[in-house]
Amino acid sequence: MEKCPRCGSGDIKKNGHIHNGKQNYYCKTCGRNFVENPQQKIVSQKDRELAARLFREGLSMRAISRVLGVSLPWVLDFTKNLSGEKGISGEVPDFGKADSKSGESS
Ligand SMILES: [Zn+2]
Repeated sequence: MEKCPRCGSGDIKKNGHIHNGKQNYYCKTCGRNFVENPQQKIVSQKDRELAARLFREGLSMRAISRVLGVSLPWVLDFTKNLSGEKGISGEVPDFGKADSKSGESS
């Protein structure tokens, strides 16, 4: 049985098919329409924390993707945000160089 990707409710009903022939569902709990096997997996807070921990342990993006069963693009995007916030060594580009270059004309 499919579950609602927004609220996780299993209280859904079939709601016809979309253009590519996939089954469309309607969530009776929150009113959302969705198709089966949505391309974007909903990643729980627990999985996000685990992904962050694995990333800090030095696991590769692909390894994290496999362990958690999430898409690689999701991991890339997630760890990009992580490195920006936490300043993980070796992963953060040096933005200072761009500044010094623009300042030399004056
Ligand atoms: Zn719902």
